[in-house]
Amino acid sequence: MALIVQKFGGTSVADIARIKHVATRVKHEVEAGNQVIVVVSAMSGVTNQLVDYCNEVSNLMTDAARANADHVIAAGEQVTSGLLALELQSLGLPARAWSGWQLPLSTDTRYGKARIVHIDTKSILDSLAEGTVAVIAGFQGVSPEGRVTTLGRGGSDTSAVAIAAAFNAERCDIYTDVDGVYTCDPRIVKKAKKLDKVSYEEMLEMASLGSKVLQTRSVELAMNYRVKVQVLSTFDERPADQLPGTLLVDEEDLVEQQRVTGLAYSRDEARITLVNVENCPGVSAGIFGPLADHGINVDMIVQNVTEDGKQTDITFTVGKADLARGLEVLKTAPGIPHYETVHTDAGVAKISVIGVGMKSHAGVASEMFRTLAEKSINIIVISTSEIKISVLIDESYIELALRALHTVYGLDAVEEQSC
Ligand code: ADP
Ligand code: ASP
Ligand code: MG
Repeated sequence: MALIVQKFGGTSVADIARIKHVATRVKHEVEAGNQVIVVVSAMSGVTNQLVDYCNEVSNLMTDAARANADHVIAAGEQVTSGLLALELQSLGLPARAWSGWQLPLSTDTRYGKARIVHIDTKSILDSLAEGTVAVIAGFQGVSPEGRVTTLGRGGSDTSAVAIAAAFNAERCDIYTDVDGVYTCDPRIVKKAKKLDKVSYEEMLEMASLGSKVLQTRSVELAMNYRVKVQVLSTFDERPADQLPGTLLVDEEDLVEQQRVTGLAYSRDEARITLVNVENCPGVSAGIFGPLADHGINVDMIVQNVTEDGKQTDITFTVGKADLARGLEVLKTAPGIPHYETVHTDAGVAKISVIGVGMKSHAGVASEMFRTLAEKSINIIVISTSEIKISVLIDESYIELALRALHTVYGLDAVEEQSC
């Protein structure tokens, strides 16, 4: 008897009709002789609504406030887990709904973006052994202080993969509103192609660079614990083994390594430029140290030294939501090096080209720069790794840039000819 984890995202449980459909999928796996753990998200839109409520009553600047906010924000998953367990019972299947704290799924105390530290498997194993389906509320855990935590937006993916790893599940099926991982977000690039397989490494880059089809942390866990994860359509009625989804695999298992596997984008970028900073040792530490101390993640960084070498401009990016706080830190934190002025721009976006094939193929970057130049798109900052190139551009050019690059790298789906 195999143990399967099935995860259903917000669209999959968007209303009672969808929840009923999910229940039939679960029933199918049970009838195939499997033990099933289901992980659910909140109904689509519900978590946004709960976050908005919190923002209306608090600026959420303190840990104490974020802890109370998590109590609210985690509520959506409690509703869907209960409803699905009820529907399964109506279909004649023993089922029990679980909140994160009941397992417990233990996390650290970083409210709003907590990390899982341990999952206690005993109660669920006992329950599965009695033939009961476990329906677990995703996205949530419990801190050492006994408070509800959430795992960051999109965190139900992470709950599911972590649970699959903890229970040594045979598969972790992630059901969502697309039928797999595409070469680019299919909502933006209509010609995007579905990938049958994608390596853990590439998926990790795609997720962390903005492809929200899987939460970054879930891919990290899948890679570290070698969890067999597949992304599948919630709308396709066929059984899981007949669904043409996307499987995460080891790099060596990719028969053919494309130069470029996919493109990603992120609108959640804001640029800060410090003009005429004194150019001497310790300047970068003096700027980025205090930002890190205030929990502000800095992403891309570029530095331009003046001709005489005495001064430098430093440009970097932070998440849009951190822009105001970042400026406050730069203005008020002790020890920040002197700078003449600061410019900011929240109308920027990052687009990235990803592919393990880049390790062995030259020219991917120059092709990217040439394509953007041909479209008169200015590059503000560039950053690279072994398997990705990212550039910061004006946000209004995202779609134009992605479509052009998608074509240039030969990623466009071939249109089917009608006869
Ligand atoms: P769920 O609620 O099921 O977790 P999400 O909205 O979090 O679903 O993730 C699915 C969405 O991810 C898709 O609707 C799609 O627009 C987006 N997406 C972004 N990049 C990609 C990609 N490369 N492949 C597939 N989907 C992508
Ligand atoms: N409901 C949460 C969110 O919207 C978690 C998830 O959907 O994965 O971010
Ligand atoms: Mg998601």
